[in-house]
Amino acid sequence: MNLETLLHQTFGFPAFRANQEAVCRAATDGRDVLLVMPTGAGKSLCYQLPAIARGGTALVISPLIALMDDQAQKLSALGLRVARIHSGLSREDARQACRDYLDGTLQFLFIAPERMRVPGFPEMLAKKKPALIAIDEAHCISAWGHDFRPDYRTLGEHLPSLRPAPIIALTATATPAVQQDIVAQLHLGDPALFIHGFRRDNLHIEVVEMSKPRRNEFAAKLLAKSENRPAIVYAPSRKSAEELASMLGGKAAAYHAGLDTSVREKVQTYFQNGKLEVVVATIAFGMGIDKADVRTVVHIALPASVEAYYQEIGRAGRDGNPSRTVLLHSFADRKMHDFFLERDYPAATELSRVASALTPDFQMPDVLRQKLRMDAATFDKAAEKLAAQGAATFDIEGNVRAISRPGNNTAWKSGYEAQ
Ligand code: ADP
Ligand code: MG
Repeated sequence: MNLETLLHQTFGFPAFRANQEAVCRAATDGRDVLLVMPTGAGKSLCYQLPAIARGGTALVISPLIALMDDQAQKLSALGLRVARIHSGLSREDARQACRDYLDGTLQFLFIAPERMRVPGFPEMLAKKKPALIAIDEAHCISAWGHDFRPDYRTLGEHLPSLRPAPIIALTATATPAVQQDIVAQLHLGDPALFIHGFRRDNLHIEVVEMSKPRRNEFAAKLLAKSENRPAIVYAPSRKSAEELASMLGGKAAAYHAGLDTSVREKVQTYFQNGKLEVVVATIAFGMGIDKADVRTVVHIALPASVEAYYQEIGRAGRDGNPSRTVLLHSFADRKMHDFFLERDYPAATELSRVASALTPDFQMPDVLRQKLRMDAATFDKAAEKLAAQGAATFDIEGNVRAISRPGNNTAWKSGYEAQ
């Protein structure tokens, strides 16, 4: 069937958006694809439509339960046969999903990347090969990305046994280093590259130096104007998020990983449907959020990295209408990041020592150094300072998964703050 006909009949969209048709064509023809487009541009369709065009089952790897549920629910609503396997479902549901996959009755199977670590699971998938493999939020595979997930690393190892299906890797992260890493890690063969659309002319970017005590009031004034809402405010801590949210009152709420899942879901839904107009969030908010009319993004403190800042301001103005982003900062913010870096990131040498006791030929993973964005010398220096304090845990491949300080909280963790 013609791709455009599928677009109308299955998805009910009148036309392709920019670049979608070319991507769908390449994937349908069986080519590996790397697709980089901004969030909200419509990447999902670029694997979903080829999946239907090719027939068989598409295997979709997705890093967050919320994203998986959202996509699965949208596809089911279109009358497609969809199953998910993730930790939030019962064993019986997972077993049923596997049976349906093996029977070939599914059009889409969504799984979390860590599933690939479950003994026997990749082998089960290989028994009945998928017709297409989609890796959503593919930048999670790269330590250069802003959301590195060690579990994505195992994908490269297992995907070859699921071939010859084309692999389509999707992300909104643009840096060339991340792109190259994705292609290499997933072993994409001569991929069709679609890298598009990062100029955001409708975003007005403001950076204002301001002492901390004045910032809440400033934000409150800004957001009191209805033309500046809906808005997302990024706060540096749970406490400051709570504080500002209660100061803003009625149509504002806090969002952070310390809240119950049910509360967080409610905040997301209410923000999405307009019952809430301002969310004051820590970093846990926003990934995969599909809200086009965010008029303002405010940072009431300096974000920890440029990548995070870029992602977060990118959530403003996806509808193309003029939007403001306002970053409030002072020298003290910078000092604070320096302080936490020094305090929290233990030491390469110490880690290597612990690690080599476990595995004789262990080497300090570059991954970790890259994650910390340090050159080797600085990293080693930091190492010396914190020697004797660190303890590390490792995943089954010998990669560092978490580093903790005795009697204290985990300093560096793989994956996301639980969403
Ligand atoms: P991304 O993954 O790039 O962030 P999504 O795939 O979630 O974006 O799509 C964003 C929104 O755009 C969704 O609501 C989707 O239904 C819609 N969309 C995608 N393609 C089209 C299209 N061709 N016409 C109209 N709406 C579309
Ligand atoms: Mg997406």
